[in-house]
This record gives sequence, structure tokens and C-alpha cells, in this order.
Amino acid sequence: MPKPSSRISRIVPSGKDGWEVHFTAMTRHQAGEDIIMLSVGDHDFDTPSETVEACVSAVRGGYHHYTQLPGIPRLREAMARVSTQCTGVATSADEVIATPGGQQALYAAAQAVLDPGDHAIVVAPYYATYPGTFRAAGASFTVVEARAEDGFQPRAEDIAAAITPQTRALLINTPNNPTGAVYSRATLDGIAEICRTHDLWLFSDEVYWTLGGGEHVSPRALPGMAERTLVINSMSKSHGMTGWRIGWLTGPRDLIALLVNLNLVTTYGLTDFVSRAAVAALENAYGVKEIAERYAARRTVFLDAICGLNNVTVRGSEGGMYVMLDISRIEPDCEKFAWALLEGEKLAVMPGSSFGEAASGHIRISLCQPEPVLTEAALRIRRFAATYR
Ligand code: PLP
Repeated sequence: MPKPSSRISRIVPSGKDGWEVHFTAMTRHQAGEDIIMLSVGDHDFDTPSETVEACVSAVRGGYHHYTQLPGIPRLREAMARVSTQCTGVATSADEVIATPGGQQALYAAAQAVLDPGDHAIVVAPYYATYPGTFRAAGASFTVVEARAEDGFQPRAEDIAAAITPQTRALLINTPNNPTGAVYSRATLDGIAEICRTHDLWLFSDEVYWTLGGGEHVSPRALPGMAERTLVINSMSKSHGMTGWRIGWLTGPRDLIALLVNLNLVTTYGLTDFVSRAAVAALENAYGVKEIAERYAARRTVFLDAICGLNNVTVRGSEGGMYVMLDISRIEPDCEKFAWALLEGEKLAVMPGSSFGEAASGHIRISLCQPEPVLTEAALRIRRFAATYR
């Protein structure tokens, strides 16, 4: 075949070998082995039936056609209302653009403000697609590690030290995947100060905002930030709609207007009947409270069951869908620990090293299983830790 572009060849996932634990476990699980899968980041339950019904009636009602490029008007209005709740900043429909999932919103953000040769900063531990998203825009990036001892809250001085004359953007994610850390107001104030001082765009990935436990604070609401913040939202986690591929980007209306052209040449708008179902789900908040309560209960059950375990420390783990355990006093090599846990106890978790240096020495537990399974998983970790050598 003729040579592919160098750009497409550079978009490799960031994952290190730790992902092998997950893929191996998944293959064996699918082949029928009784493995508890706590390495995945997808719900174990289906989309709320009201949303499914709204979609079915949209399909039956003839919503089969092309839609407006930035999203159908009623969808943008519904998204803007949710953005107002999420960010605390009054948002109008022309400040949001609908995308097929939060990932496309991230891609759009990077394409919208980064030129080849520009530099970005990404806070780690991070979601695995972030580096590839910057590479797809031709930008270089520096990883700034939020430290485990700070509960994975990034330090402003660490971010400031990574800034170069080419730096145009900073990417953060709160509540965080993989750590479950929810950034404090002080952390966000520090980040906002840096963005204002150095005239940076802030990409704020808030796809887990409904799963934060307490009141969500968005950096978009901080002084001088609405004009430079691009918020990534998604219905995947909040509304139980991972496979529906629906999300949106919120930002200054002039930038959003430019992004309509990106939709023109990439997605050409969203699926018609999915858009109608999304309107119903957003307007009625189908499943949002129940899903948030379910994850909060699961987090409590798991943390209670693991509480007091010798040589294991819980870090972050305040929100989102994950819990981070520092197991470095048992085994400094978290990948080795995860493999041994899979072999010895048939429990699949992600080694923290797959998400950046700061999370090495940790394992990430996904809460995407019912409470009794999480209790059983905690028991297996206890038994494993007691006998590990
Ligand atoms: N951002 C974070 C932090 C995530 O964890 C995910 C998915 O797991 C996404 C963005 C992308 O979500 P989606 O494209 O399903 O909306």
C-alpha cells in the first residue's frame, strides 16, 4: 500500500503494557472463565428505558434524516441548559455544539485552538486518549503529574513550570478518570490564575460531573475563565448512554461557530433519532439521579469493605466511576501486582502505571459492578494482600 500520513501514524494510544492485563482478562472472561472484571469503564446496566422508548418512537416517527450540523436546535437548547447547571455560567444554545460523544468534543477542542507546533499541557493521571488527541492536532504536549501524596490534586507550580512560549492550552479532568479525584476550589483557582496570566485555553473535561459526590465546581465559572474555557460534556456516564455516542462542547460562541465547519467535514451532524432521544433524556434528566446514587453507594460499599487493610491506602476516589488503591507497600510494581491478582484471585483491575507515572504503585478499581460483586472483590484483594510475597 502507499505510505500513510505521518499524522495518522502518530495517533497511537498512550496506554503502556498495563492494558494487556485488561485485554487478557477480557478474552478469558468472554471465553467463560469466572473473572470479576473491575478493569472496564462502562456501565454494567442498560440505558434508562424512558430514553430507549424515546428513541424507538423517534425511529418509528420517521426521524431518519440529516440533522443540522451543530445539532438540532432543541438539542442545543437542552445541552445549554445542562451546561448552565454543570458550569454555573448562564449558557445559550449558540455556545454549545453537539458531538458524537465526549471524545469528539475533545478532538474538536484540540482542532479548534491548536496549530501544528503549538504546545499543550496535560495533567496526569489522565484518560488514555488525551495524548493521541493532541498528536492528531500536530501539537506537542508535556505531562504534569498530580502527586499521589496530594490526593492527585495537581499543584499550580508544577503546571506553571511546564509552560513554554508555545503553550496554548491546558487539559484537566475533574472528577478524574482514573483517580476519582475531585479538584478542590483552591486547585481550580490556581489553575485559572495560570490560564489568565499566560493567556491559555483551558480544556475542562467534566464528563463525570454528575458523579462528583458533592456540588460540582467548574473552572468556567471562575473570574475571566468563560472566555477561555472549553468544557467537554457527555451523556455516556451521566445518562447511561455510552454506546449512543452523544456529547457536546461548550465555549465562546465565536469559536463554536467556527467548529460547525469541523462537523461539516467530519460527522456531518448527529444521528437524527439519537438526537431526539437525547433531547428527551436531557430535558427529563432520565436516569441521572439514579446513576449518581448507584455509584455513590457502590463507592461507599467498596471503600467500607477495603477499609483498614494493612499497607493499602485509598487515594483520590471521591467521585467518578473509579477508586485508586496505593498498593506500593505490598508490591511497588503495580503491573506485576495486577497480573498476580488476575492469576491468583481471578480479579481484573488496571495497573495505575497505565495512566501516567504518578499513578504507578496503584491499582484502579472500576465501580461498574453491583455491590455484592464489589464486596467479593474487596474480600479477594484482602486475601491476596495477606498472602502476597
Ligand atoms: N473523558 C473521560 C475522562 C473519559 O473517561 C471518557 C470515557 O471513558 C471520555 C472523556 C469519553 O467519553 P465518551 O466519548 O463516551 O463521551
